Amino acid sequence: MALDTRAIHAGRDDLVDLGVHAIPLDLSTTYPARDSSAEAARLDVLATGEMDGGLPIYGRVSNPTVARFETALAELEGCEAGVAFASGMAALSACLLAAVVQGKPHVVAVRPLYGTTDHLVASGLLGTFVTWASPDTVAQSIRPDTGLVIVESPANPTLTEVDIARLAEAAGDVPLLVDNTFATPVLQRPAEHGAKIVLHSATKFLGGHGDVMGGIIACDEEYARVLRQLRFVTGGILHPMAGYLLLRGLSTLPVRIRAASANAAELAQRLKDHPKVERVHYPKLGGALVSIEVAGDPLAVISAVRVFTPAVSLGSVDSLIQHPGSLTHRIMEPDDRKDAGISEQLLRLSVGLEDVEDLWQDIDQALQKA
Ligand SMILES: *Cc1c(COP(=O)(O)O)cnc(C)c1O
Repeated sequence: MALDTRAIHAGRDDLVDLGVHAIPLDLSTTYPARDSSAEAARLDVLATGEMDGGLPIYGRVSNPTVARFETALAELEGCEAGVAFASGMAALSACLLAAVVQGKPHVVAVRPLYGTTDHLVASGLLGTFVTWASPDTVAQSIRPDTGLVIVESPANPTLTEVDIARLAEAAGDVPLLVDNTFATPVLQRPAEHGAKIVLHSATKFLGGHGDVMGGIIACDEEYARVLRQLRFVTGGILHPMAGYLLLRGLSTLPVRIRAASANAAELAQRLKDHPKVERVHYPKLGGALVSIEVAGDPLAVISAVRVFTPAVSLGSVDSLIQHPGSLTHRIMEPDDRKDAGISEQLLRLSVGLEDVEDLWQDIDQALQKA
């Protein structure tokens, strides 16, 4: 079935048989059982990261509402499994820890990346160490102890795109992690191009309304088991309420992405001719994000917007604008920002679902103040 259909029905196959329309929200932290020896046997299975579909035992191990979201996102990405976390960074942390525990702490990463991702990888806080590569130097950067290749496409905040199939080939046996937060499975499914690990900050487009934090990895079942084991001991689980909201968000994801992308493409086109705009970054792939390099003071633009919301984050129904140099990518060293091609004149726009003429008038009048 088509993606639009699956976005609405995935993770909900059993609802008619259950006789409910909305998915059950299970807030239990623990699950009573009279037979402790049977429960002990189940715990042994769950500790290996296997999901046997049996009754849950404890909220840190599994949750039925969260499992629906995991099933649905995995299906949309064309992957065997999904493993959900409390945030995008918790999801990334699990992948870095997986590389470390597998004795392969070396990471090859391509800039630019989301600021906190860059910082986590650059700082080696979780015991990894990095070689920064360009798409052309990934293959030669791989070593026997390389456990992960990390890339974002389109990348935050410059919207730079990479050829995922080429990178997957360059990575060889090393798992390629693609952060697909910006494209979403509506525009791009990295697993179809050879990526082994697909990461989302679900906080962004998957939730889509700026009211839920989450992260998720779509991957094969073997890697999912490793991640579930790590999640079980480190505790970075997704809250069931978040799982509920994220599954609801998925059902409107295709229409939201298409409508927001149409607005963004129109704004990108008009911004190219704006006298206060020196450069427009808009991916070939499309999408709801546009980045611009402005002539003059970028912070003056932020304080002048009235329809755009001046805030970090992205992927909401409302349009947001922020200055990466001050906010999302502030945690990076200034030289690293430069290395990643993030200009101090850069503003990142996450285009929402408002009327495009209202958005245009707003950004146009704000740019006059730059
Ligand atoms: C926001 C973001 C993250 C981090 O996700 P959180 O949910 O904020 O932890 C990772 N990657 C990209 C591309 C992001 O935009």
